[in-house]
Amino acid sequence: MTDEKRTPEEEHEDVGLYQKMAARAAEILEEGRKSLDEALKKAGEEITAGGEYTRDQAERIGEFLRRDLAAVGKKAQQARDSVLEAVEPSRVVAGMQSGLSRLLTSAADLLNELAEKSEQGLEFKTGEVTSPGTLTCKDCGKEMHLKSTARIPPCPHCHKTFFRKSY
Ligand SMILES: [Zn+2]
Repeated sequence: MTDEKRTPEEEHEDVGLYQKMAARAAEILEEGRKSLDEALKKAGEEITAGGEYTRDQAERIGEFLRRDLAAVGKKAQQARDSVLEAVEPSRVVAGMQSGLSRLLTSAADLLNELAEKSEQGLEFKTGEVTSPGTLTCKDCGKEMHLKSTARIPPCPHCHKTFFRKSY
């Protein structure tokens, strides 16, 4: 990532792109005949074709999405239902499943493989977009609880920028 300053509009745009890509990739998986990797790639291509987002943005957000899926995939082997609740608490209230939780349901049997492949990539940094969950500062151990998909802020305690994630 870079240290460039971002406006609230740009931050909102990143989160919106994350949610659009998750929803579209889920639809593609539900249509069948695609692997998770292919679905994410195709979703990114379709969304950037609209001109609202660049290919670089889609690739960056696609990596964040893949990482969240891998992180959840590891955990999901033990307790998928509770993880789905943690990832998208609003789905119960809204009466609908969207974004990441829908993608997780569609891709459930692919997640173990993905988790093994991506294990070394599961470090989260300030400025990246991620789904709801608990981020623990690698320096001071302070926990932050994200309630919705968001850009990761600096540690509120020590202002460092590297985190582990749990649910
Ligand atoms: Zn800290």
